[in-house]
Amino acid sequence: MAAAYSIGRDVPLAARNTFGLDVQARAFATVHDAAALPALLAEPSLQGQPQMVLGAGSNVLFADSRYDGCLLHLVCNSTHILRNEGDRAVVHVDAGCEWDALVDWTLDQGLQGLENLALIPGQAGAAPIQNIGAYGVEVGSFIAAVHAYDRVTADYARLGHAQCAFGYRDSVFKREPERWIVTALELSLPRSGQPNLGYVGLREELGAMGELEPTPRNVAAAVRRIRRRKLPDPAVTGNAGSFFKNPVVRREVAAKLQARFAGLPVFPAVSEGERKLSAAWLIEQAGWRGYREGDAGISAQHALVLVNLGHATGPQLLALARRVMASVLEKFGVTLEPEPRIIGAAADPPR
Ligand SMILES: Cc1cc2nc3c(=O)[nH]c(=O)nc-3n(C[C@H](O)[C@H](O)[C@H](O)COP(=O)(O)OP(=O)(O)OC[C@H]3O[C@@H](n4cnc5c(N)ncnc54)[C@H](O)[C@@H]3O)c2cc1C
Repeated sequence: MAAAYSIGRDVPLAARNTFGLDVQARAFATVHDAAALPALLAEPSLQGQPQMVLGAGSNVLFADSRYDGCLLHLVCNSTHILRNEGDRAVVHVDAGCEWDALVDWTLDQGLQGLENLALIPGQAGAAPIQNIGAYGVEVGSFIAAVHAYDRVTADYARLGHAQCAFGYRDSVFKREPERWIVTALELSLPRSGQPNLGYVGLREELGAMGELEPTPRNVAAAVRRIRRRKLPDPAVTGNAGSFFKNPVVRREVAAKLQARFAGLPVFPAVSEGERKLSAAWLIEQAGWRGYREGDAGISAQHALVLVNLGHATGPQLLALARRVMASVLEKFGVTLEPEPRIIGAAADPPR
């Protein structure tokens, strides 16, 4: 029988983070069976050093040239329908499944809901961490439960939807990164219903494709077309997608900013008393779109995307991100927050 996990030493990570940063991990554990986590975490050689999960590395920035601990990489990747509930099905998805392949798998099963989240890189296990979202949909609205290993109680847990405390790019897992290792998801997906076409650009794309009565599969195709056009491909230019979250401010603050800066896009936020601002607009207006400093830059395609144009290092990318944040704060009085997890000693202020 194959080993439940294997541990490599001094493992290069350039191909394991979408910024393409040339960093090394002191140890890298590939986990084939989530049941082996307690044994792995108890390995004598891993004691006294940090441990964190690394999925596909599409939402992390390594701020140091070495991760002096053990990265845990789950590769268990089975999917199956757990049960049917009326017009919905609950599917079980292992953490190691590739997200975009999962979107297609659900569509093949006649299930819908995830089509707006097509082509988001990464593993399924990472999806609840920041409650991935795109084109008007967040994954949290389909998550019935998350299975995780709890490093505090040293036991496995099943967290129901409410316990996950999903918010905008947020969840209990993001707030307690040292605690949870997500091992699987339960997604509750409908078999019918109108696709979510709330995002104007999506309706326009479907129109351009001649899809007047779009199916979930056409929506996924449209989302992929838009994303390929709008976002730099990490296989060509290192990046982690949107590097900054859209700032959420009080309604009065948004109104004052709109009065001062014509054209500032403002969106509804979860709470009635708050509004979400477009971070891309703020960054572009501050003059950063297409800016380059050595090999660190802000994408000319999309102002939210920090890019590695060659051989930038983590500290160089982080320094540029901090300059962008400082200039947006100075010009608009708005604090931007990075979306990816910044890893390493150099990560500390201002996160
Ligand atoms: C081109 C591009 C476009 C993107 N577009 C979007 C988008 O539209 N919407 C969006 O929300 N995100 C987007 N992202 C960000 C990213 O794809 C998602 O956040 C994705 O879910 C990260 O998955 P990953 O496996 O790469 O996670 P990683 O980057 O490996 O990890 C991210 C974080 O999650 C933690 N983590 C990962 N797996 C687990 C686990 N099993 N248990 C516990 N913690 C875990 C890690 O420790 C880390 O803190 C984009 C990224 C890129 C490069």
